[in-house]
Amino acid sequence: MNVHAQQGWPFEACALLLGNTVKDASMVTEAFLTQNGEKSRVSFTISPEELFSAYKRAEMKGEEVVGIFHSHPAPPHPSGTDMLYMEINPVVWLIMSMPSKELGAYQFANGMIKEVKIVTKDGKMLD
Ligand SMILES: [Zn+2]
Repeated sequence: MNVHAQQGWPFEACALLLGNTVKDASMVTEAFLTQNGEKSRVSFTISPEELFSAYKRAEMKGEEVVGIFHSHPAPPHPSGTDMLYMEINPVVWLIMSMPSKELGAYQFANGMIKEVKIVTKDGKMLD
């Protein structure tokens, strides 16, 4: 995704994260890379076709779409538009700040947007 965000630069890059939810944690096994339909520096749109393929692929693997990744030309905090969509789609939203590659993760739960901890496969915190 690192590379994906770089290739998409200066436009916002986006991807759907496939995996499983175990207890309170979302485990990502694959990043389904998508095109930014808007070719925008400040927003992104994933086409219905790509969304459909991502969900179909997740289903095929016995997984779910557990998150949405996109890059920002700014600090990795959700924008106003992001917050709106986070409420509609309450999966984990992973945001990468470009070009610093700083990561932020957020999720809408219990009526509010909260920051989510990012942990790597071997259980290390990614801060
Ligand atoms: Zn955003």
